[in-house]
Amino acid sequence: MTTADNIEITYCEKHPDRETGLRCNRCGKLICSSCAIKTPTGYRCEDCVRGQQKKFDTAEWYDYPLGIGTALILSAIGGVFVDLLGFFFLFIFILAPIVGGIIAEVVRRVIGRRRSKLLFRLITLAVLVGAFIPHTGLILIFFLGGGFQALIGLLWPLLYAAIATSTVYYRLAGIRLRL
Ligand SMILES: [Zn+2]
Ligand SMILES: [Zn+2]
Repeated sequence: MTTADNIEITYCEKHPDRETGLRCNRCGKLICSSCAIKTPTGYRCEDCVRGQQKKFDTAEWYDYPLGIGTALILSAIGGVFVDLLGFFFLFIFILAPIVGGIIAEVVRRVIGRRRSKLLFRLITLAVLVGAFIPHTGLILIFFLGGGFQALIGLLWPLLYAAIATSTVYYRLAGIRLRL
């Protein structure tokens, strides 16, 4: 469309009734003032801003079953291992972070070092669940009214789960936690 002055009137691509001359500085799409998002490098359209955020999430769909499965199995094995050596008092404070570190390292390799906040959270949850897999018997006894003795038996796995879970999460998320 042209005016008498031969100046082209352009409209927002999302809102055809709104006149605008503003373009996204990345893709060139016409955007109105309510569609434009101010970024440090200038005005951009929603799609470009969202696309940029997506780059932080590089995980593939298969990273989910692989990463979660690996974390679950390794955490269960680690739980048995820590349990066997657990009779050395305080030894768990050295062992659990090491086991957590190994789990995080193996999982990172399995998922090809790809990143996703949701994936990291699910993997952390898998570590937590895995830690209790060797103790399902005790948990059953506890919930069936076995009470105090079962609870004492669960203290160790609880401690292991807490340390391993936080170690794995902070390793994956890229923050080092000193324990
Ligand atoms: Zn754009
Ligand atoms: Zn618009």
